[in-house]
Amino acid sequence: MDLKKILNQSKSKISQAKTQADLEKIRIEILGRNGLINKLFSDIKNQSDPKSYGQQLNQLKTDLEIALKQKLSSVGAIQESPTSKKPLSITNANITQKVGHLHPITITERLLNNLFTDLGFSIYHGPEIETDEYCFERLNLPKDHPARDLQDSIYIDEPEILLRTQTSSIEARLLAAEKPPFRVAFPGKVYRNEKVNKSNHFIFHQYQAVVVDKNVTLKDLFGTMDLMFKKLYGSKSVTRYRVKYYPEVEPGVGPDMQCFSCHGSGCPICKGAGWIEMGGAGIIHPTVLQKAGIDPTVWSGFAFGMGLDRWTMAKFNIKDIRTLTGGNIAYTPHKL
Ligand SMILES: [Zn+2]
Repeated sequence: MDLKKILNQSKSKISQAKTQADLEKIRIEILGRNGLINKLFSDIKNQSDPKSYGQQLNQLKTDLEIALKQKLSSVGAIQESPTSKKPLSITNANITQKVGHLHPITITERLLNNLFTDLGFSIYHGPEIETDEYCFERLNLPKDHPARDLQDSIYIDEPEILLRTQTSSIEARLLAAEKPPFRVAFPGKVYRNEKVNKSNHFIFHQYQAVVVDKNVTLKDLFGTMDLMFKKLYGSKSVTRYRVKYYPEVEPGVGPDMQCFSCHGSGCPICKGAGWIEMGGAGIIHPTVLQKAGIDPTVWSGFAFGMGLDRWTMAKFNIKDIRTLTGGNIAYTPHKL
């Protein structure tokens, strides 16, 4: 058997292939289970020098594998269209080497996880199917509290089991499970009964951080949030805090960031306000600590949460929130 001849014949076949499908056919012919190489291997015992023949066969196999791989990367940009024979160009050319990338939300979550880990925070996760107790009751939102109307819920088993409507449910679990002092951050998917359109979805993402220690004040909260915004948006970013109402904190504040586009003078991005709302925060309500068995006369803490979707969309230039839950793998986000 002239292995050199086989190598040259196979190589010329590979070089004439025009599509990935052609190459796959050739690959099976040569390297498949019933392919040429395996047939040659099965003939090894009939050779005068089986050892040297085996070595040559292995070399042949390696050479052909390389030739196939090289050709595959050069035809990667052309894919045969199933309906016409016209070549179709696809954006992510070398699909043999890169089959996917991290989800933009995952990239944002990891960025924040790294930031908070550097500040000495631990990262927590919690269940997405939650009880009424941890989603509302322990967060100072008893049944019939009007603020529950703001979170139209999706129930698994009404009225006790639901898909969590806020990552504060992880806070409730954390307070019940850990002994202070602690500082913890957590990302999470949350679910609300919302109409799905370009800017709203029934699934969205939040990021939250909680600190419980002795003598924690609003100053600590402002310092931590300012640092976070400066890390995310640059050292020149300006934040302000307005008093707001959230049942699980007292006092509650809403951080706003000066619009990164118009720097406060008003533009379409900030809807003329000059400022962009960045989430909710505050000093943890004594009742919330009490419900978790933490003495509010000894311990105090702050919590803040913000939505990740809009921030991620702005950063990656995504115009439609549904893109985040869609299955279009050809979509490639910009690098951070
Ligand atoms: Zn603006």
